[in-house]
Amino acid sequence: MKRILITGAAGFIGSHLCDRFIREGYHVIGMDNLLTGNIKNIEHLFPLANFEYYHHDVTKFVHVPGRLDYILHFASPASPIDYLKMPIQTLKVGSLGTHNLLGLAKSKEARILIASTSEVYGDPLVHPQKEDYWGNVNPIGPRGVYDEAKRFQEAITMAYHTYHGLETRIVRIFNTYGPRMRVEDGRVLPAFFSQAIRGEGLTVFGEGNQTRSFCYVDDLVEGIYRLLLSDYHLPVNIGNPSEITIMQFAHEIMQLVNNPQAHIIYNPLPVDDPKQRQPDITLARKILNWEPTVSREEGLKRTYEYFRQVVTPA
Ligand code: UDP
Repeated sequence: MKRILITGAAGFIGSHLCDRFIREGYHVIGMDNLLTGNIKNIEHLFPLANFEYYHHDVTKFVHVPGRLDYILHFASPASPIDYLKMPIQTLKVGSLGTHNLLGLAKSKEARILIASTSEVYGDPLVHPQKEDYWGNVNPIGPRGVYDEAKRFQEAITMAYHTYHGLETRIVRIFNTYGPRMRVEDGRVLPAFFSQAIRGEGLTVFGEGNQTRSFCYVDDLVEGIYRLLLSDYHLPVNIGNPSEITIMQFAHEIMQLVNNPQAHIIYNPLPVDDPKQRQPDITLARKILNWEPTVSREEGLKRTYEYFRQVVTPA
């Protein structure tokens, strides 16, 4: 049985990865310090003999007994309000945490895949974003703590690949959504769903004409699974190219929730908020034979099923 360590296991994406690798017959070791993760996301796995949970902060030395075949590094605060609240932890988990996990991968001769992000492109001057675009990041702006941690993470991962011959994989994840997103994480989808369900104002930042491209979590997990098992070590974008303005997105969610009290309100645009974002997934199509299959209409329906259970109407 293959053994895989997943950090950030109790988080939104980490917990879906745990489910997937359990289904594929792996022995999964889930690690988290629950800084932003939620143990409820993985509690259903606790009775399984091929799942273990380690409560640990990966910025401290990481010890895992026994053999390891794969490591997926998905631990990090990942929403703008989280990394604004926890700037030092965000920098540490991307840098010191990644260093510890690369060291662990080296000692176990394991293949490691690290979670990078479309944020490495910053507020992009090239559209859509291809992997060979170097980005437009403000290192000292409020998002710099996340963006630069992830850029450092890519650099150190490539260094371990080049200098130690480590088997590494880098996925650049674009906006992803689905069940288990934290209701209060401040990201646009949990904010809009909970506001629409409670019949409050949907807080559109700025004029709402900034764009994002939203990928359903099952599609993302499929892309990550294929990338891990591929032989490609350079960064790969995984995301859904279907781009939408935040205002259109607010309207789609209001229509789905259909609460007559819901309405739009305008809040100031956060500093350095990227104006547009859309992945170019030509590379993923070519080397992984991957593309998203869940439409936004279908994905939002499935996600609404989750949010209507966890959000109490006002
Ligand atoms: N946004 C918004 N209202 C909210 C939260 C976010 O209009 O309550 C906007 C935000 O300004 C950004 C987009 O939605 O342009 C996506 O924000 P999110 O925090 O989800 O992630 P980002 O893609 O910026 O990392």
